[in-house]
Parts: sequence; structure tokens; C-alpha cells
Amino acid sequence: MSAPPGFLRDRMRALERLPAYVYDLDGLRDHVAAVRSALAGGPELFYAAKANPDPAILRALEPHVDGVEVASGGELAHVRATLPGARIAFGGPGKTDEELALAFDLGAERVHVESPYELERLAAAGRPAGVLLRANLRFGTAGAALRMSGPFGMDEQALSRCAGILKDAPSLTLRGVHAHLASGLDAPAMIDLAARITDWALPWLRANGVESPEINLGGGMAVDYAAPGSLFDWKAYAAGLPAHPGVTFRLEPGRALTAYHGWYVTEVLDVKTTHGEHYAVLRGGTHHLRTPVTKGHDQPFTLLAAQGTGDTGEHRPTTLVGQLCTPKDVLARNIPCPRLRPGDLVAFGMAGAYAWNISHHDFLMHPHPDFSYPARV
Ligand SMILES: *Cc1c(COP(=O)(O)O)cnc(C)c1O
Repeated sequence: MSAPPGFLRDRMRALERLPAYVYDLDGLRDHVAAVRSALAGGPELFYAAKANPDPAILRALEPHVDGVEVASGGELAHVRATLPGARIAFGGPGKTDEELALAFDLGAERVHVESPYELERLAAAGRPAGVLLRANLRFGTAGAALRMSGPFGMDEQALSRCAGILKDAPSLTLRGVHAHLASGLDAPAMIDLAARITDWALPWLRANGVESPEINLGGGMAVDYAAPGSLFDWKAYAAGLPAHPGVTFRLEPGRALTAYHGWYVTEVLDVKTTHGEHYAVLRGGTHHLRTPVTKGHDQPFTLLAAQGTGDTGEHRPTTLVGQLCTPKDVLARNIPCPRLRPGDLVAFGMAGAYAWNISHHDFLMHPHPDFSYPARV
């Protein structure tokens, strides 16, 4: 899924300015519709906006998701302005009083509470809200890319304190628990985790008087940058989720929904060989696409030899770097490539999530990229 479809290659070659982010919104719609149908009759699907809050992406996703999860007041205001009718769940650590007020003002349907102190402040507002308590459970998550331990959510002691606070807070309704415990897990590992979360959560929620419990299982569905074609098995995941009539399960993936349909397209500025290593210096760099540095991978890419000079014969290991004055500005390292020339086009795939919006845009003050949303022809 990292190689751009034919119509998109043509559009990439015709871009007026580089670098550019190019989003295939039609492909994205198809992908999310397929995820949705794999989940049919099962869990609700929310989109974690922090993966990519681009308004065009939010609008493309809206018909195919049940709602959007936001993790700050900024995201909350942005999503409400972009999708006035969307169901919104508001999570994230360190919510300020202003952000909590925004949850009421902008109609966040659920607030994912991160601490007893946050819950006390929410209760003190005296305004109605549906609450999920974020649990930090000590479950093993072998194989995870990222474990959401440490400061996120609450252990059982803090959760009990919350149950006490809620008894004296008539404006708040406890609806269930939220448990986003890890990211980068495949379907069997996620199923196992879901079962353990549910086995713990249901008795706890029943004991605290919750009648139609909701269990938000979080996001974190694996995306393999080394194997763009191997998608998370949504069907197997849905089939393996515990069946409990009357319980609403909810998912809130980000990366696995939007990663596949964005490309960062740029051109080769210079080619050099230094101490026997071959480099292509590209316009732009990791200040536009930080993902390969933060995740420590090679960003998959396709060569679109704009000059028609792409030499298909000899391949040699080439490191693709950007324009930043730091050795960390590497998008892909030692990848066998035909001999590149200045002016050649490169399209980095899997750049639809945690790409532009997670990057340090203004380091070195290079121009920002363009954004393009070509429709399928
Ligand atoms: C980041 C995050 C998500 C989305 O994670 P992905 O790995 O993009 O699927 C979902 N829920 C919470 C609470 C998060 O912090």
C-alpha cells in the first residue's frame, strides 16, 4: 500500500511545488469503509484525531466512523468546527479547567478521565457529562511498539477514589472504562488484551452500578512500515472480541486508519558519495516527516524519475537525507536504489499518520510543503 496508484503518480509528477503531501482521499474512504464492514455488528469505531487532524481527512472519514477521539482542547475545537455533528470523546492527560469547560461547551459526548483530581474538577463544574475512567492496568503487552504505562490513566486505588467522587457528583454519569494500553500489536495480541481488560472491567463497573457498560479498548492497531501490504486483521480482531450482550465496545485507532493514504513527495537536490557511502539530498526532510526518526525505521518510498533518467540497471545502497543540519535527518538508510539524479522525484508512502502534524516544521525555517488531494480519475 505504499506505492502510489497510477493516477496519483501522474498527479505527483505534475505538482507545481515540492515538497508536497499528497492524500488519496478516495483510497482512504475505501480503506476505512472496509475496516467498518469488518467490524459490522461489533465495536464502535472512533478515529483518534491526533494521528492526522487534516480537515479534508476528517471529512473523508466522517461517514465511515462513529465518532472522533480528541486529546486536547485544540483538537476538540478543531474537530467540532470541522465536523459540527460528530460524536466526540475527549481524552488525554493534563486537561486544564479551560479544556474541561470546552468539553461541556462543545458537547463532548464522553470525557476520558485521567486522574481523581481531574474528576474532582469536572464534578465541581456541576454540568452534565458522560465519563469513562481511564485505567492503567498492569497487563503484559509483549511485542508492543509503545506501552502506555507511566502517567496514563489510573491504577485500581485511584479508580476506587474516582468511584467515591462519582457517588457525590450527580451531574456526572459513569459510563465505563477506557484502556489504551499499548500500540503496535497484531490482532491476536489485541484480542488477548481485550479479553483481560473486559474480565477486569465488567465486574468493576457492575460493582459501581453501571448498567450498560462501555469499554473503550483504545487504538494502537499495528502498522508495519517494513511491510506496507500487511494490514491489521480487523476481521479476526472483531471475531475474537469478547461477546457480552449489553456491553458497548469502542475502538479509537489513528495510525491504522490514515497511515496508508498519504505520501510525502519531493525531489532530489543533490547526489553525493562520501567515504564510499551514497547519499541523495532531498528538498525537505524530517522537519516535514519526522516519523522515520521517531520510530527508527526506513520510510518506504517509490522513485518517480521525473527526469526520465531513472537508471534501472545498477542498484546501489543509498541513504535519503533532507536539508537539515543534523545527522538525524535521515528518511531511509542504505536502500538499494538505481542511480539517482538531481530533479528525480521520490514519493514516501505511509505518510498519512503522525507525519506532517508530528514534525518540527520550523526548524531551519525551510518553506512548508504544499498539500494536495487529487480525486481518483
Ligand atoms: C494515540 C492514541 C490513540 C491512537 O493510537 P494509534 O496508535 O494511532 O492507533 C488512541 N487512544 C489514545 C488514548 C491515544 O493516546
